[in-house]
Amino acid sequence: MAPIAFFDDSGFEGCVILNRIDFLERIKPGVYRMGSGYLFNRLGVQCTNEGFSGLEFASGIPGTVGGVVYMNVGDNGQEIVDAIDTIEIVTVDGRHQILYRSDLAFGYRMSPFQAMQDLTAIVAVTFHLLPSASTKEHQQAYLKK
Ligand SMILES: Cc1cc2nc3c(=O)[nH]c(=O)nc-3n(C[C@H](O)[C@H](O)[C@H](O)COP(=O)(O)OP(=O)(O)OC[C@H]3O[C@@H](n4cnc5c(N)ncnc54)[C@H](O)[C@@H]3O)c2cc1C
Repeated sequence: MAPIAFFDDSGFEGCVILNRIDFLERIKPGVYRMGSGYLFNRLGVQCTNEGFSGLEFASGIPGTVGGVVYMNVGDNGQEIVDAIDTIEIVTVDGRHQILYRSDLAFGYRMSPFQAMQDLTAIVAVTFHLLPSASTKEHQQAYLKK
């Protein structure tokens, strides 16, 4: 289905980007490299169905992988930052950089990208999730709540 956008009649002074970097790469069991345009709630359902824990809360949150990392979203005692290994960005001068989560300072609904002067976009994110027999159960309880 085509996305729908509404704009004020007076226009919009800025750049609107429809992010279609929506690949999903399974690096090894529990390690997912995602394009930043991939839908976060879809990822939450997929990795839980595959038996990996860490993103059960994702199934209830709308947005793209890039958008939710930028906002450091969380719910139900989980936060996206805890499931991240690396984040790939493109800088204003066109350089591709791989950043390690351990080198980045996240806070409540806050990521270092919000203050990064030379950021153009987050382009990919690698998540590292742990196997869990009860992940599906946790997700169902969360969605019910
Ligand atoms: C019904 C509902 C429930 C929600 N529940 C929760 C919740 O439980 N917990 C929670 O934390 N949030 C929740 N949210 C908030 C929301 O899901 C997040 O704010 C999310 O980040 C939106 O993602 P988006 O891709 O739509 O980003 P946008 O809203 O489009 O953008 C958010 C910000 O990220 C930037 N951005 C987006 N993509 C990129 C990129 N690729 N690279 C660099 N910057 C980028 C944008 O410029 C903007 O500043 C909820 C929202 C709704 C509507």
